[in-house]
Amino acid sequence: MSRWTFGDIIVERVVEFEGPLFPPSSLFPAATSEAIDSHCDWLEPELLDPESRQLVLAFNSYVVRTPRATILVDTCGGNDKHRPQKPRYHMKKWLYLENLLALGIKPQDVDHVLFTHLHVDHVGWNTTLSDSRWTPTFPNAEYLFVRDEWEYWQHQYQTDEFSDDPYYADSILPIIAAGQAVFIEKDYAFEKNMWLDPTPGHTPGHVCLHISSGGAEAVISGDIMHHPLQCTEPNWNSCFCVNPAQAQRTRRAFFDRYANTHTLIMPTHFPTPSVGRIVSSGPAWRFSFEGTR
Ligand SMILES: [Zn+2]
Repeated sequence: MSRWTFGDIIVERVVEFEGPLFPPSSLFPAATSEAIDSHCDWLEPELLDPESRQLVLAFNSYVVRTPRATILVDTCGGNDKHRPQKPRYHMKKWLYLENLLALGIKPQDVDHVLFTHLHVDHVGWNTTLSDSRWTPTFPNAEYLFVRDEWEYWQHQYQTDEFSDDPYYADSILPIIAAGQAVFIEKDYAFEKNMWLDPTPGHTPGHVCLHISSGGAEAVISGDIMHHPLQCTEPNWNSCFCVNPAQAQRTRRAFFDRYANTHTLIMPTHFPTPSVGRIVSSGPAWRFSFEGTR
C-alpha cells in the first residue's frame, strides 16, 4: 500500500530500487561500529541487512495529484545513464515508467516535476535517451527548479567538479535547452494547501514539500535524513551533505517541529513502507513507520 490521501490530495510512491546499499560508516562517517551495534536490536533485519551489514535504503519518487495537477516529486536515478564511478546508477534498466503507468500516469500526464534538491539520485528520470539524445521524459511538464539550488549546482558545473559524473549535463541541461525549466523561489506555493519549506544544509537549496489538506498534514522531506538511524542519531550527516553544520541544525529543527504531531513524513530513501511519524525518544527521536514492511 503506497497511496495516501490528504483531503483532496492523493500521494503515491514510485520505487526505483530498494535494498542493502551502504555500510553504515560509508553513508554516515560519524557512525562507529559500537554505535551501530547498540542499535542492532531495532535495525535488523529490515533497516540493516544482517548478512551484508549494509543499510537498507530505497529510492522513491512521490506522485502528488491535486484536483488541478499531477506533480512528480524527485525522479530517482534514471535509465541508460553513464555513471561508471557509481554502479548503483550505471546503465540501469529500471521499470520506473512502467510503475508510473501502473498508477495510471503516462509521461504526458505529468504537469510539474519538482525537486527537493538536484543530486544525481533525484533528477535521473528527467530525461530519457531518444535517438542518442537526452530528451525530457515528461513532454508537457514544467520542471520546477528552486533558484538557489540551481545557481549552486550551475556554479559547481562551471568550475568543473562534475568531470567524473555527467548527471548535470545529461539530466538537467537538456531540460533547460528544451525550454521546460521554470525557476521558483524556495518558499513557492502551488496552491494555498501545498507549499515549499526551505531546508538548507544537505544542499544549499534543499526544500521540503508541505501538504495541508482536509485537516491532514504531510511533508515530502527529501534528504533531510537518509535513514531512520538519523532520528536516533540526529547529528550524523550523510557523506553527501554539502554544509554539514547547517544540515545538522536543519535536521534537528525539523524533528523538533514535527515530533509527536500527526504530520506524515515522507522521505526519499526510507525502505517500505517509507513513511511515518517523528516521535520523541529520550534525548533524541525515533521514526515510527506507518504501514507494513
Ligand atoms: Zn537522495
